[in-house]
Amino acid sequence: MKTLFIVLDGLGDEEIPALNDQTPLDAAQTPNLDEWAKEGRLGVALPVFYGALPTSEEGHFALFGYDPKEYNFARGLLTASGAGIDLEEGDVALRGNFATLEDGELIDRRAGRIKDPSDLIEEINGIEIDGVEFVVKSAKEHRVGIALKGDDLSSAISDSDLHYGEGGKGYKEVEPEKDTKKSKRTADVLNKFLDKSHQILQDHSRNEDREFPANYILTRGASSLVNFPDFEEKYDKKAAAITGKTLYKQIAKLVGMDHLDVEGANGLPTTNLKGKFEKAREAILSDYDFVFVHVKATDSLAEDGNFFGKKDFIEKIDQALSVFDEYQETLVVTSDHSTCSIKGSHCQEDIPLLVWGQGGDDRSRFTEKQSEKGSLGKVDQRNLLENYIFNSEDK
Ligand code: ZN
Repeated sequence: MKTLFIVLDGLGDEEIPALNDQTPLDAAQTPNLDEWAKEGRLGVALPVFYGALPTSEEGHFALFGYDPKEYNFARGLLTASGAGIDLEEGDVALRGNFATLEDGELIDRRAGRIKDPSDLIEEINGIEIDGVEFVVKSAKEHRVGIALKGDDLSSAISDSDLHYGEGGKGYKEVEPEKDTKKSKRTADVLNKFLDKSHQILQDHSRNEDREFPANYILTRGASSLVNFPDFEEKYDKKAAAITGKTLYKQIAKLVGMDHLDVEGANGLPTTNLKGKFEKAREAILSDYDFVFVHVKATDSLAEDGNFFGKKDFIEKIDQALSVFDEYQETLVVTSDHSTCSIKGSHCQEDIPLLVWGQGGDDRSRFTEKQSEKGSLGKVDQRNLLENYIFNSEDK
């Protein structure tokens, strides 16, 4: 059997008074998903996470069967490789933000969300300090991917961006996190680079008229290169990914999936849903055994507190799913984590899971509540493919 694997990012939600105490999924009209729920099996996917709340990257790696803890990577790896930096063994990858420093104080951590800082990036890309080359590439808007290339480097260094982790607001010098030569050297060269780039950026003509000059770089998520086992070899399935956002494209690429581009797939509520699903159908009918489709806006609408928008968007997804009317292989619909619209953040609420094409348990609809009563029970994301999808085919 082939598997179509649809991840609706941040699908699960909390009960919302303005939706008659229903979740957006519950409140939405979803005839296609409900039909599959009636014919298929439901369950609850248990998220895997190691911080306070599950992240999208943890959720996706877990769903593909890669324990995020075992591979112990940080976001820098995804950002830098997503920005198109060619990472090699020994490099240290970071995620960076253009920010605004005024008299040594951080006044905006996104430099007013600067749109296209490519001219600024050009000025600081390729700087060399103590034998370490700093490669900087755009990761959209104020975000950059950074790679340190040189000998004796370590990813055991702290973030200079205090927004995450410690929940602080400012920035601080990068510090070694281990008492080793490599860790100290890496913190030291990075601090020198951040100072030097600050000097270059604050004098740049591009910053003259900006309310929030992009004159500093905040860094976080230091990571070394991780070689993930290839998905195809792990499961003996030829896999493709269809996504609109760089992060998910990069996750898929890191585990060796082919990425199939779709015009108008942009990760926004306006994304070309029909185009993505049509491409997925085409791929599954050709030589792919596993096709992962990622839909982002369910998560971002909830993060914006827009539960009506999330409900409407779920209805749009459901309509676009008509593309699979004649589909006859295995179909999975689930999520990486839940995103709660009132809290406006990722949350630990149950993640609905639907598996169609491998027996049924006669639930009435695809909702969080019905999922809790489904015959699949509670499924650890890390075991989903191996134990529930691929193995059940052999039974
Ligand atoms: Zn997510």
